[in-house]
Amino acid sequence: MENKTPLDLKATVNLPKTNFSQKANLTQREPERLARWKQMDLYHQICQARKGRPTFLLHDGPPYANADIHIGTAMNKILKDFIVKSHSMMGYDAPYVPGYDCHGLPIELFVDKKLGAKKSQMSPVSIRKACREHAAQALKRQTRDFQRLGVLGEWENPYLTMSNAYEAETARLFGRFVGRGYVYKGARPVYWCIHDQTALAEAEVEYKEHASPSIYVKFPFPEDQVRELEKRIADLRNADLREPSDQSAIRNPQSAFGKPVFVLIWTTTPWTLPANLGIAVNPNFDYSAIDVGEELYIVARDLVDAVAEKCGLEPPRIVATFPGSALDGLEARHAWIDRPSLLMVGEHVTLGGEADAETEIDVAFAQKKGSGKAGTGCVHTAPGHGHDDFVIGQQYRDQLAAVYDRLREAGVLGGQMKGAEVYCPVDNAGRFTSEVEHFAGQSVFEANEQIVEFLRANGALVFTEEYPHRYPHCWRCHNPVIFRATPQWFISMDRSTDGGPGLRAAALREVERVTWMPAWGRDRMRNMLKGRPDWCVSRQRVWGVPIPAFYCAGCGETIADEKVIDHVSSIFAKETADAWYAREAEYLLPDGFGCPKCDGSTFTKETDILDVWFDSGSSSIAVLVAERHLQWPADVYIEGPDQHRGWFNSSLMVGLAARDEAPYKTVITHGWTVDGEGKAMHKSTGNAIPADEVVSKQGAEIMRLWVASSDYTEDVRVSPEILTRMVDAYRKLRNTARYALGNISDFDPETDAVADGELWEIDRWALAVTREVTRKAVDSYKRFDYTTVYHALYNYATVTLSNVYIDILKDRLYTFAPKSVGRRSAQTALFQIVDAFARLLAPVLCFTADEIWENLPGKHEASIHLAEFRDGEPLEDDAVLLERWNDRDKGILSVRSIVQQHLEVARNQKVIGASLEARVTLTLGPDLYPIFKEIEEMLTSIFIVSQVEVVEGSEGLAVKVEHARGAKCERCWNWSETVGQDPGFPTIDARCVRQLEEGWGL
Ligand SMILES: [Zn+2]
Ligand SMILES: [Zn+2]
Ligand SMILES: [Zn+2]
Repeated sequence: MENKTPLDLKATVNLPKTNFSQKANLTQREPERLARWKQMDLYHQICQARKGRPTFLLHDGPPYANADIHIGTAMNKILKDFIVKSHSMMGYDAPYVPGYDCHGLPIELFVDKKLGAKKSQMSPVSIRKACREHAAQALKRQTRDFQRLGVLGEWENPYLTMSNAYEAETARLFGRFVGRGYVYKGARPVYWCIHDQTALAEAEVEYKEHASPSIYVKFPFPEDQVRELEKRIADLRNADLREPSDQSAIRNPQSAFGKPVFVLIWTTTPWTLPANLGIAVNPNFDYSAIDVGEELYIVARDLVDAVAEKCGLEPPRIVATFPGSALDGLEARHAWIDRPSLLMVGEHVTLGGEADAETEIDVAFAQKKGSGKAGTGCVHTAPGHGHDDFVIGQQYRDQLAAVYDRLREAGVLGGQMKGAEVYCPVDNAGRFTSEVEHFAGQSVFEANEQIVEFLRANGALVFTEEYPHRYPHCWRCHNPVIFRATPQWFISMDRSTDGGPGLRAAALREVERVTWMPAWGRDRMRNMLKGRPDWCVSRQRVWGVPIPAFYCAGCGETIADEKVIDHVSSIFAKETADAWYAREAEYLLPDGFGCPKCDGSTFTKETDILDVWFDSGSSSIAVLVAERHLQWPADVYIEGPDQHRGWFNSSLMVGLAARDEAPYKTVITHGWTVDGEGKAMHKSTGNAIPADEVVSKQGAEIMRLWVASSDYTEDVRVSPEILTRMVDAYRKLRNTARYALGNISDFDPETDAVADGELWEIDRWALAVTREVTRKAVDSYKRFDYTTVYHALYNYATVTLSNVYIDILKDRLYTFAPKSVGRRSAQTALFQIVDAFARLLAPVLCFTADEIWENLPGKHEASIHLAEFRDGEPLEDDAVLLERWNDRDKGILSVRSIVQQHLEVARNQKVIGASLEARVTLTLGPDLYPIFKEIEEMLTSIFIVSQVEVVEGSEGLAVKVEHARGAKCERCWNWSETVGQDPGFPTIDARCVRQLEEGWGL
């Protein structure tokens, strides 16, 4: 014993050892790991591993293959990756087929610009080729950037809306709409951009503040019509006399109309006045004739005072009041054009707010602004320039027939079919056509002012002012759009020829069945569907899927037939839709096809293409069913808040036409990305944070952690400060993993693990907490609630592990004999902890979790993404352990924090320095005493002090801190009265002597 070999005590301390470095070096390591994943074909290995399991399908909404990705696109893809990776780790077969939206105006415009004058000499096929190349280049860059974010999927084989198969399926699905009787061709007012000269879909307009001239205009009400109105009022009065009732509604009718009478209309689009064919009133409102001096005006009774005040009229005298229905079918005269303006009744007429309902689809705003009453209750109606106007014009088609006949004679209806005319004297460029007297050739927005001046000059203008309101603008060029009737292809929202409900009714039914997250998605969808007009699906462009319709050269018959379209689709499948432009009609039609009307055999082709929303809306069928044979409907769609009118809507329509069902079970909406103050980000304002900059400076993991930490159900803030906070958070998570890994480098779970029942109590407690965290995190992953995942894992790492468990464990891990049961017990727990932690982190920190995995001892899958979440089911005594340790009042950890406070005081009073210099005396009442007496020996490590004595007191809890007795052990730094007792090791305590004997055989 005397002759011990001189021992380097430091070498007997088990210091942490791991290849998992402290410095993350993400910008270098992430690309290396991506290369490895690619080399091992990780995505397909995962598919293989999950084969035969229940499927969980997220269907990717295709980003537009035009520009490079921005931080919002990055967030969208990362959220999708969270969903796919987490469900894969729940054991689902969760394939991810990314897609790209490749057709459409932005690409065609870009190519237009690039080709310049050359374009006019190019064939549609060459233009399409240029567009195809542009899209292919853009999607290649996007693919590179999405992969760089760590998103796993079918990147070598994404779905493209411009592929043969997809174009063929899009055409075929249009044929399905035709076959079910939903499609018709007609002139209808649609959003029209006069700058880009194309029709726009609902989803392609954005609402912005816009100042329009608000005008109050007099429409003469001729003598004979006044007489007729008087007669109707008298009849109403007689009817009323039979049942005594309120007589005040009809006053003095005979003598009242002694002066010239006018119907007073209000509009904010003076340029639509040349197309005026009528005035709409609400049949259920009362209207009054008011005497304003020389003239009488007819306005809604409830607006009399507001109109008089607004127009600066003498305080008006009401000379007669009558229901709006009394005006039905009477004819006023146009304010300056020699033709009648038909009085029509419609319930769309409101008292105030916006005259043109279609410019105020943004209901919330209209309701806010609508509180101040504007208008007259007599709505100027131009069926060629508004949705409601068009609808009411259809209802009064018989009464308007004579007007249309005269317009036809004047040659201003073009080739429109009799009975289906819509009057719209504005051309593609937004200029009045030649028959519009005084204003021919003027652009409509410039004409506004001229028309107001003209009305003023001829005495028809009562009042005008500037009127700020929300007005639709083109999403592409940001210019205000107009409503304009043009011949277009439409999908009817309400028509059905096969006995089923129309699309609107079916869509409203499905909306109730789908789960919407957040729940307001359902209301938004419902409101949008209730109010939306028929879907205008034609575009006067080249880059898209052509509408596969033909026209008979002999008789003009339109051929839109599902069987013919199926035939065309089979040609697209081989040659892409370019065939429409490269081939003659005869080639595209089935052999021997003859016109069903005249049996002619010469045909021309439709030149319009389909709305791109039709393309992307076809994706669930084209991709999940036709191309990849996956599950339909999809489990989940997740996109930004602009997709209710866009992709969520068009997908629903195609799903219904093809399979009478919504293509999704759950629809999640995420917010926009905004700057640190909540403002929209723009390159021009300098507050934009480019996605590639974050990735190249901080790493994709930081961006992923930011997405997880943010509540995506609202707008998501991002700023350099926020990202710096994420770097700190990342570092803490990484260091926790690193510490755990460092202390199990000499542990083999196969041979060294301690059985559950033999683990030390604190180790069993740490595992019970781990199971609790696993349950919470997995449950949150199921609910797509990544913020809760983030907070649960962050607290687990920084509080439970770092501040408590690991802190307590250090002494045991460092100073116990390497293979001692005590140290192996701690390692067994740490191994399971880091294993569970890495799995739970993997969907979010996909690179770092895989790196942890690589450094984890024992046999396991080649990548963490092949692994699954651990079962978090609690063991039998978990509940007891959690209460014993975590109880707020009596729990061991709450006593620990009280002791720590006392230690802090003692440190400040210089009683002790490090906590190991302390001796703690706990005096406990009868409820706590037995608990703590039993674990008295454990308490030194739990409190991280050298000596603890538990004493029974009368009540409560008292803590006394003094300096520890004895001397400081050179090896473990604990103070002990045993230091110096062993002459062989004069500088260390008895505990260390025992460990040296066990561990090093000394
Ligand atoms: Zn435009
Ligand atoms: Zn024919
Ligand atoms: Zn010691």
